[in-house]
Amino acid sequence: MSRKKTWLVILLSFELAVLIPLSLAFLPITPRTHTILLEARKFGYSPARIVVNKGDTIALSMASADVPHGFFLDGYPLELINKQGVTFRKYTWQDHEGKPITDWDRVSSTKFVASRPGKFTFRCIQTCGNLHPFMTGELIVRPNTSYHLMASLSIWTVFCVLFLIRFDSPTRFSGFKRINILDRLPGLKRLVKHRSFQFLIILPNVVVFYLFILSSLWGSPVGNRNVAIIFVWILWWFVLKAIIVPLGGRIWCMVCPLPAPAEWLSRKRLTTVKYFQKPFKRLHHRFTGLQKDWPKKMDNIWLQNILFLVLISFGMILITRPIATAIIFLIILGLTLVLALIFRQRVFCLYLCPVGGFLGTYSMASMTAVRVIDPDICKKHREKSCLAGGPGGWACPWNQYIGKMSRNNYCGLCTECIKSCPKDNVGVFFRPFGSDRMLRGYDEMFNVMIMLVVAIAFSITMLGPWGFIKDAANVTESGQIIPFLIYLASIWTLALLIFPGLFALTAKGANRLAGRPADDRTVTLKLAYTLIPVGIFAWIAFSLPAVMINYNYILSVISDPLGLGWNLFGTADYPFNPLYPQWIPLIQGGILLAGLYFGLTRGYLGLKNLVQEPSRRIRIMILPSLFALLVVNLLLKLYMG
Ligand code: SF4
Ligand code: SF4
Repeated sequence: MSRKKTWLVILLSFELAVLIPLSLAFLPITPRTHTILLEARKFGYSPARIVVNKGDTIALSMASADVPHGFFLDGYPLELINKQGVTFRKYTWQDHEGKPITDWDRVSSTKFVASRPGKFTFRCIQTCGNLHPFMTGELIVRPNTSYHLMASLSIWTVFCVLFLIRFDSPTRFSGFKRINILDRLPGLKRLVKHRSFQFLIILPNVVVFYLFILSSLWGSPVGNRNVAIIFVWILWWFVLKAIIVPLGGRIWCMVCPLPAPAEWLSRKRLTTVKYFQKPFKRLHHRFTGLQKDWPKKMDNIWLQNILFLVLISFGMILITRPIATAIIFLIILGLTLVLALIFRQRVFCLYLCPVGGFLGTYSMASMTAVRVIDPDICKKHREKSCLAGGPGGWACPWNQYIGKMSRNNYCGLCTECIKSCPKDNVGVFFRPFGSDRMLRGYDEMFNVMIMLVVAIAFSITMLGPWGFIKDAANVTESGQIIPFLIYLASIWTLALLIFPGLFALTAKGANRLAGRPADDRTVTLKLAYTLIPVGIFAWIAFSLPAVMINYNYILSVISDPLGLGWNLFGTADYPFNPLYPQWIPLIQGGILLAGLYFGLTRGYLGLKNLVQEPSRRIRIMILPSLFALLVVNLLLKLYMG
């Protein structure tokens, strides 16, 4: 098919994908009035979801079953507070000089017309306890055109990718060529090669990290008033997922303060290299302690997977209680120190760090990679200073041989090999998104599944309107042991059994459909890559509301980091004023569609060399595309439906 015809088909199908959902908006609707008594209790509303048609009138009265609660409706100028059985509505107007004036008037009920279609979250605006930032409900105003549009475009995306695969050219979907950033920026190269580079970028992080531990221990016990909670679980978490991982992969590991003290202790050096001419157990260094190597049998990320699941099982508690954050940090710090006295190199980061598991697999898609410039030079260089250590740099702390490294998973971007290589053969490359495309084993495939399931589970628990799920996850406060165990069992079963099982069946079916171009294991691991971009973008979509809604907490804690009533920069009382909250579902939808596109195209590129004929390429991609489509639509339903 000619290029012109290909684009014609794509444009026509796009028109259909847009016009069908838009036409639903023209179905006739008769407006009616809904009288709703909204009961608020820690940490949800009843009814949790209000479904009306565009043009309907809502007569809303509010009651609280426990402490004072509020009601802020995204996209509608409606704010209520219910205190001791009395409801107050916020009115804002301008005085004769144009200054905004605010007042709260007592009301028994308030009426408004649902004039904007879509999904709108209502949220509590009266700090009511640990889970206050997650106390939400939903108003659905039908026809929910934006949701229908995104669902329709997700199907169109799958159609287009499969269609383009059919008429593939060698360069389609592959993006630009890699660029060595150190070549382009000689100043950066000099900086990176400097022995103090790592120490100087880690040091401020270590200082901030210890301040966070102190503030978690002695600051306000209320999560949204404590700098550690706000900076770690809102700001850092969002920046990590939305910017650092897609662009820099494991670049966080380069500056991470958690293993730094243990590494300094193990090396007995802060910046310089302790080089010995005679190697000991193949490395030209001596470390503090027993200097053991991690058991070969455990050279996988199963432990990391399990530890991540353990950590997120208490995720709701961890991100809302400063003391829980402090405890987890101190445990990690202690563990890194103990491990450094037993093992050489960064075994905690490689095999145990729960965040590391997530960073490792997702860094495969990242746009930055440390790699050798010319692999032939490495083949001829017998000393392999990058792996064994040299006078200029420590042996790779992550125990990787960069001469043959083709994936980002276990490279902490520490820059040691850039310094240790006497041939100046290591670069930092900027490359297309989704360049490393082969999972090593089932441990990594399970990691992909776990990350996806946790993104869905957190979306339901933290962003959803279901108070009973929040109560189950918030077991230390609610005391609901049985619901908590059911909650845990659901996440663990979905992550370790249902999702991987369904995906394995999907991959097996895909392999059959394509006439078995390879064994099931190879095909499954290659196809599982599809879910890495889908997962990365799902996490971005999940994290977005935390920043757009709660950015005022960031400004508040900057002025009052310990929640002690300070006002250092005059922002301590910055009002709750979400940033374009009515647009959040649409932005999340767009992000999910981008993840679907990258997932399918990058997954396909990983398979391309395995299957030569175009028709078999399509057949092998059909079932995994449907799997990814279902996942994306589940998330679309949660965020927009
Ligand atoms: S030290 Fe440099 S040239 Fe030698 S093997 Fe390592 S990266 Fe290659
Ligand atoms: S030494 Fe090189 S390969 Fe090893 S972790 Fe550091 S940057 Fe990555």
